[in-house]
Amino acid sequence: MEDNENVKQFLQINWQNQIEKANISKEKLIDQLKEYGLDSKFLQKEYQDGKFLYIQSEEFGISLQLESDILNCVYIYGGRDKKFKQYKGFLPYLINFDLTNGDVVKFLGEPSTRNGGKLTSISIAYEHLGIEFTFGTKNWSEKDSLIEFICLFKKENNASYKLCGNCKNPTNNLCSRCKIIYYCSASCQKEHFQNHKEKCKQYALQLNTQV
Ligand SMILES: [Zn+2]
Ligand SMILES: [Zn+2]
Repeated sequence: MEDNENVKQFLQINWQNQIEKANISKEKLIDQLKEYGLDSKFLQKEYQDGKFLYIQSEEFGISLQLESDILNCVYIYGGRDKKFKQYKGFLPYLINFDLTNGDVVKFLGEPSTRNGGKLTSISIAYEHLGIEFTFGTKNWSEKDSLIEFICLFKKENNASYKLCGNCKNPTNNLCSRCKIIYYCSASCQKEHFQNHKEKCKQYALQLNTQV
């Protein structure tokens, strides 16, 4: 990988903020890549008769998905894929590609949706955080499977399920400090505090430094 300022700057892009902030068009994305001198590193691929367009770089481990020519979600790869190398850029929620499925649930709490298993890789999503993780296992009982890829999308405040990080009952109350983990009651929050304390502090710090 080229070790120049442009590449470093490109890797600092907070894609989730970009999706959240503005409707980024295909033209705008291509201009942005040109500014970084990276447009030649990205290929465009259409799927479903042009409904989805992917602007992707195997070298940088990233695939930008556009729906109707607007940036919809961003796939970033852990380098365990045959094609895509590991993404070395900014990741939200203090995530890195050495985390297992067990770690992710420990840090971010109970996911709002689960997919896969048996025939396909397992994935868990946190709709209120706008993030989905897919792991390298098809077996839900495995807890030490590493992240294959991550999908970043627009946060959804009315997520289908919001589960208490301690007792797993449905709830609507987010930890007021980090706004990451849900708790159904003060007693559950208190019980879970030893586990959550350190991450809560780090998440809250990151939240406050985000522009
Ligand atoms: Zn609870
Ligand atoms: Zn917290």
